[in-house]
Amino acid sequence: MVFFPIILALAMALGAGAIREHGGSTAVSSGKFANKYLSNTELEDWLKDFSVRCGRISRLNSIGTSVQGRDLWVLELSDMPGQAEAEPAFKFVGNMHGDEPVGRELTIRLADWLCMNYKRDAMATSIIDNVHLHLLPSMNPDGFANRSRNNANNVDLNRDFPDQFFPQNNNEARRQPETLAVMKWIRQNNFVASASLHEGALVANYPWDGNVDKSSKYAESPDDSTFRFLASVYSKAHRNMSKSHEFPGGITNGAAWYPLYGGMQDWNYIHARCLELTLEIYDTKWPPESQIVQIWEENRQSMLELVSSTFKSGVHGKVFSSASGLPLAATIQVDGFNQTIKATSQFGNYHRLLPPGKAYKVTASMDGHTSRSVHVLSPNGESTALDFILDPTGGVGQQHKLMRLMTTHDDSDTMALLLYHSKFTFLSFLGVLVILFSCFGCKRRLWLRSEKSPAKV
Ligand SMILES: [Zn+2]
Repeated sequence: MVFFPIILALAMALGAGAIREHGGSTAVSSGKFANKYLSNTELEDWLKDFSVRCGRISRLNSIGTSVQGRDLWVLELSDMPGQAEAEPAFKFVGNMHGDEPVGRELTIRLADWLCMNYKRDAMATSIIDNVHLHLLPSMNPDGFANRSRNNANNVDLNRDFPDQFFPQNNNEARRQPETLAVMKWIRQNNFVASASLHEGALVANYPWDGNVDKSSKYAESPDDSTFRFLASVYSKAHRNMSKSHEFPGGITNGAAWYPLYGGMQDWNYIHARCLELTLEIYDTKWPPESQIVQIWEENRQSMLELVSSTFKSGVHGKVFSSASGLPLAATIQVDGFNQTIKATSQFGNYHRLLPPGKAYKVTASMDGHTSRSVHVLSPNGESTALDFILDPTGGVGQQHKLMRLMTTHDDSDTMALLLYHSKFTFLSFLGVLVILFSCFGCKRRLWLRSEKSPAKV
């Protein structure tokens, strides 16, 4: 009995070392912040220092340069930074408007918090392990240096993207270097969702940003319900946003607030299928430096939950060919949403964010293959794992065996494929054994016969 208190103390000590659920008590920070707006040089130094001290889960690279030649630094955070993975990617873009600097500070604080809490806090760990997170603290470093909204060519970068309604905006040669760098970066990554951080209001804004008649009526995109869900994830987790008197629930449709053309969020959705929000995170632009810590505390949980929604909601999985077992860059269609996404050609993975708690019919289709549809239901709002194995058109026989092994409501299609292959291997192995034993038996009988008849020699 004398050992009981010792065992209890040991158990408590071990328990304290386990990964804790997310909460205020785990707000570990490196303390490497001066509580001021870092200059462009200081920001670059901070990022380079971070990529060394947190090199195991981060990678720093420049996606291009500004008009005045400043690098557009992107910090990538993942358990496999710099490597392709079958995971959704998420991005935060800060400081698109030069006179809105808070996003610079929030993105680096988010990086620091994730680094300090990885393997210590459940949410930090799940984000690093399940998402490829990209942070662009400053899209407009020249504007920041000049404390102006526009870039050094006096262009508003959030009016410089190709627009769905006004083709005169689509001359790529005249596009700003910051815009072109971001467009190229978006095309190179599998961004499932993202947010750009602005100041001047407190609201989560979502597409569409405009109407063909330039009116300010509500402009519903095919993913209106998904956007409202994601915007609400942010506003509800924010300390004040959802209490807004101006914006019910702290969210707004872009065009219904004020229409704009050439914006970044609509282009993301149309051309990259990336569900981007424009987050207005403080009522006034360039708030006093003394407010930075408070604004970070108000937004931290929102930022974490928005990133987490890329794997905690929707339908996720892979698509394979039953003939080759190789991944297929199939098209994924969900009934009720006039917008498709594509699985990647490298892994066949897809990530379709959807509002939780509803039933959906999900269809995977690929040229030369028979489409397949599955109904999914997620009553508790968690994400659904759904893999597809598609038969080549007209294919029969072995492929059907493979289809029968497929289970549609869990993550076991890859397993089914492996199971099929392992079954095949096992049966082959059995066959070889039978042949070997038969041969051995034959040989032994011959040998015994030859032993019994030495007179012939
Ligand atoms: Zn702005």
